[in-house]
This record gives sequence, C-alpha cells and structure tokens, in this order.
Amino acid sequence: MKTLIDFPYEKVLVLGLAKSGTAAAKLLHDSGKEVRVNDLKADQDSDQVQELTGLGIEVVTGGHPLSVLEGVELLVKNPGIPYENPVVREAENRKIPIITEVELAGRLVNDSIIGITGSNGKTTTTTLIYEMLNQSGCKTQLAGNIGNVSCEVARNMAEDEWMVIELSSFQLLGIDQFKPKISVLLNLFEAHLDYHKSFENYKQAKAGIMKNQTEDDFIVYNADDNEISDIAAQSAAVKVPFSKTQRIPGGAWCDDKYLYFKQEPVISLGDIVLVGSHNLENIMAAVSAAKLSGADNDGIRQVLNTFTGVKHRLQFVSNVNGRLFYNDSKATNILATSKALSSFSQPTILLAGGLDRGGSFADLIPSLECVKAVIVFGETADKIAETASNAGIKTIEYAKNVEEAARKAYQLSLEEDVILLSPACASWDQYRTFEERGDMFMKAVHTLE
Ligand code: ADP
Repeated sequence: MKTLIDFPYEKVLVLGLAKSGTAAAKLLHDSGKEVRVNDLKADQDSDQVQELTGLGIEVVTGGHPLSVLEGVELLVKNPGIPYENPVVREAENRKIPIITEVELAGRLVNDSIIGITGSNGKTTTTTLIYEMLNQSGCKTQLAGNIGNVSCEVARNMAEDEWMVIELSSFQLLGIDQFKPKISVLLNLFEAHLDYHKSFENYKQAKAGIMKNQTEDDFIVYNADDNEISDIAAQSAAVKVPFSKTQRIPGGAWCDDKYLYFKQEPVISLGDIVLVGSHNLENIMAAVSAAKLSGADNDGIRQVLNTFTGVKHRLQFVSNVNGRLFYNDSKATNILATSKALSSFSQPTILLAGGLDRGGSFADLIPSLECVKAVIVFGETADKIAETASNAGIKTIEYAKNVEEAARKAYQLSLEEDVILLSPACASWDQYRTFEERGDMFMKAVHTLE
C-alpha cells in the first residue's frame, strides 16, 4: 500500500472521523506522521475509535477543545464541517493549512484522476464514466461518496488505473496540489449558500477543480452554462466543451439523430434509454471524459443501451394501473426539480417539500406547466403550496409525509399521468437521508400495485 512521500507536515490533526477521516488518519499514521483525531460525536467504544487508538493515534471526542491544535502543522478537515467551527477558525488564525481528504489522495496518484463537479448530475455522470470505462476494458476505480474513500482507493491503485471521483464544492475548498487529468464541470446553480455564504465563493470553490491543471490536462465543460464557461475560460487545460444546443467541433454535441464526439457519431439518440434532457448533458459529459480516457464506442453504447439511472435520480418505480411513478428524491434543489419536470410532457402530479433553507420557490413556476396537482409536505409545505397557487394550479393538497403523498397522488390521478416525487428540498426535516425518503416513497408505491 502506498504512503505519502515528501509530505512536509509532521503533526496533523484530522477533524471529523467518519469513513474519510478514519482513512486519512491511517494513511498519515502509516506515512510516519504524528496524528491526532478530533470528533464531536464519535463514541470512544466504537470500532473506528478503537482501531485508531490501537494504532497509537490520539482520538479526542465529545467536543472541539482548542487544545487539539497544540503543535499541529496541518488540519485535515471533513468536508461537511463548516469553517465557523471553533477549531477550524483558530487554525485559520494560526495560519495552519487546512485541506480535505481528497488532497491526500491526489498526492498518491499521478495523472489518473477523472474529477466531476457541478451543482447537479455529479453522481449520474460519475457512474456513467465509470461504467463506460469498465465496459471498454479500462481498469477503473470509483472513489468518493458513491465509491470507496478516495485516499484508500489511491493507496491501492495500479499505475494504469483510472480513479473516477465526484467532487463537491466542500471537498474542493480543501485542495492545494490536487489535480485531475480530466476535470468535468456540469453546471452551476445557487446551492449550499448556507455554507459558502455567496454565489461567488461557491463558484470559486468549484473552480478549484481546474486550478492546478496544465496544458497537458483536459477540462470537459458545459458550453451552454455561462458560469461554467466563465470558469473554463480561465483554465490552462485543453478545453473540451459539450453542448445540447450547438455543433461543437472540439467536443460532444448532437443533432436530431446522433450524439457526436468531435466529428464522429457515437450513438443514435434513439438507443439511449436514460430519460430527461438534463441527462443528455450528463451523457455528453460522460462520453467526452470516457473518450479522452480511452473508452471505445462499443463500451459506451453498451452502457447507454441499458443504463436507466442511478437510484433516487428520476428513477422509474412502477406503472400502477397506467400511472407512472418516478422517484427523484435526490432532487434537493429547484434546478433539479425543474429538470425532472421538463423530462415529461404528460399531466404530472408533483410531490414536493422538505427542509426549509429560507429561500423562495418562485423559480419553479416556469417548470410547472404540465403539473396538474401538487402534494406538499415537510417544513416548506406552505411555501410550495403558495408557489403552486401562484402558478395557477388548482389542486394543491397537504400530506404528512411521502407515503401519504403517494397515496393521495394516486387517488387524484388518471391513467397515463406521471406521479413524480421530486421534492426541491433536502430531506432532513423528516428523514435521515434522501435515500430513506425515496425508499419510503417506493414502498408506499408498491403497496398500491
Ligand atoms: P449530484 O450527485 O450532483 O447531486 P445526481 O446525479 O445525484 O447529482 O442527480 C441529482 C438530481 O439532480 C437528480 O435528481 C436530477 O433530477 C438532477 N440532475 C441530474 N443531472 C442534472 C443536470 N445535468 N442538470 C440539472 N439537474 C440535474
């Protein structure tokens, strides 16, 4: 297993345990560094803590005392921990560098990272690239939140392997030398402003993906998105744009029959089974990255002929007496829900609501054209009901949760209607995760069958 070489910090604090903190602590320890871990919630008797203390790593739990910074030269921060955390603030005051775990992974691999970022579509695109490379016989590992922890993957990677990794703005804020060979930028939309404070900060964090790239690297980007094109314009990497609206000689594009990469038709649009025009963007991004990293057209076609979507992302659930149920529980913001709605032209019953982050839902109105009824739930129920009413929708009902919403939608529906759970909000007001919310919905749908 690889360890860090020429890594100039001797005493390191890992803040936040979870899977990535544990892997980072072990890597640093195996690299001969003095490691301390601090986690607010971890249980001293848990397997993770026991394993680390067994290695001689100091683990401080139950609070964030500033004493954990004693002698520390580097802070490895869990991406979810905000910069307002007292330990992080103090580290900033003391000019201690702050990185995230992906930076460590980046130090272990050479020119074999495909990094994907954007406000929406990261998981879908990451999965597509991984599958396309696999089907083409290229050795590939999936890392990050849908794969294994990136520094663990990096430790075991062979020279000729690719690491495909989804990168959040939180992770990208904590990079120094991290450099993908191929960076993929999908779209940029106001998100996570509670963490980043301003859109500009958020954009800068996303732009981090290409900051270390050189003319030997590639940046695949959405030419239809102005903010993304703005970031790409500043990149030193070879630009490989994709577009749904224009012919792009140097990247991916389509006419009414085929999807092309550069001059070559790669697949007939009729052979792509994944629904949704937003998914065409993800597909074009994935085809570009896959072609640049050695995938062949047969491998790409095999994936696109069969791939119906990642779970909880506009996932088809069931046809119940002619009603088509879709689970898009992962749609935790307005853009995602708008994209989901734009995938359907038939009368749709929308199920939406969840955690209230304080914003308005007015931007959803243009997407509600096909929506004949809305069932609202969660903290934002009133706000979404008001938005639906402003859009002229007559049928608006309240439900306790997604299960009741599924039943109410079924009662209101006619044959050939689409019933779409696409909440436009995070799930944490009522559910532990968006997965749990989607699973509860699907369970309720199956009881109607
Ligand atoms: P992420 O990992 O960035 O959250 P996912 O692939 O999990 O993205 O998709 C999350 C949601 O975002 C999906 O439910 C879908 O409705 C929406 N979505 C997916 N791709 C795009 C895209 N290219 N543009 C806008 N919305 C998208």
